[in-house]
Amino acid sequence: MVGVVQARVKAWADLDRPVEWLDPAEAAGRTGIDIYHGALADRSGGVINPVAHAAALARRAEAAGALIHEHSAAQSVTRQGAGWRVRTAKGHVDATRVLLCTNAHVLGAARALGRTVIPLNVYQIATEPLDAGLIARFSPGREPVSDTRANIFTFRLTADNRLISGGMAVVPYLGAEARMARRIAARLAAELRLPQVPHVDHIWRGTAAVTTDFLPHLVDLGPGFLGVTACNGRGVAMTTVTGEMLGEALLMGRPLNDLPIPLHFPAAVPAPFLARWAPSIFLLQGDRADRRAIRQTRQARSGANGARTA
Ligand SMILES: Cc1cc2nc3c(=O)[nH]c(=O)nc-3n(C[C@H](O)[C@H](O)[C@H](O)COP(=O)(O)OP(=O)(O)OC[C@H]3O[C@@H](n4cnc5c(N)ncnc54)[C@H](O)[C@@H]3O)c2cc1C
Repeated sequence: MVGVVQARVKAWADLDRPVEWLDPAEAAGRTGIDIYHGALADRSGGVINPVAHAAALARRAEAAGALIHEHSAAQSVTRQGAGWRVRTAKGHVDATRVLLCTNAHVLGAARALGRTVIPLNVYQIATEPLDAGLIARFSPGREPVSDTRANIFTFRLTADNRLISGGMAVVPYLGAEARMARRIAARLAAELRLPQVPHVDHIWRGTAAVTTDFLPHLVDLGPGFLGVTACNGRGVAMTTVTGEMLGEALLMGRPLNDLPIPLHFPAAVPAPFLARWAPSIFLLQGDRADRRAIRQTRQARSGANGARTA
């Protein structure tokens, strides 16, 4: 994995992006975690409040003349003359171009896109506000962290010093929220060596859309009717730039084959029931492999320290 991340640093640096490789000591100093073999640091990165971001985008769209209808799910999109008719429970809209951006949802019109992705249940928590002195010990620069483990570990800080972290449940049912809240808080305490497990003030859950090649997909649903999914668990920035790019392309009538995201025909994920459980199986196997790798790293490092002491 070190080779993969270092290649990524080089690829970004070749594009003049402010990205650098951190050695294990630097990575530990900036993340509070001492098991990493190194890290990619991107000075252009940062933290945003995604709900505030979505609300700001909506305000900008309305200011530019867009009409937003909340609580009016599109039930179907059908051919109407040379264009399309989008039906809701209360009425319809006729349009020459339709862009379906419904992520992993599958109800009503969303099914045309939702059936092409694997749904991934993600849980996230916000802890109680933590002491600033404690935060300075593990995150002096207050940088968001995300790692490459199969059971990925992430954390970021809010302006009022809450830790936000997340995880996936092997069984995303049967009281999974309360179970995940306990598990994620305990993991935060263990990974960041907090003096105690922080209290969880908020937990929420959502469904991320995963494509079979882990890349954003533009789906051709008919003449002037497109679906787009750019999530794969990290879509806040991706969907924002993709939306801007597609909006402009549709308005300007740019050929879709010129876009940076390739056009796909709508292909349903095979064996959807099994696909729904694929993330859980991957998580179980990956978690075991993660634990083995961490054990080996710790043994190798304590061996090296022992050799130095001797
Ligand atoms: C818990 C969690 C944590 C995450 N953390 C991060 C992170 O740290 N960084 C990051 O980059 N990404 C993260 N993601 C992923 C990110 O949230 C998504 O990539 C992003 O929100 C996708 O944006 P979108 O506009 O494609 O879809 P969404 O934001 O899901 O919007 C889809 C919209 O379509 C609407 N809809 C559904 N069906 C219909 C219908 N039939 N008619 C009309 N409307 C419909 C829905 O109500 C919804 O408003 C996280 C996701 C989850 C669930």
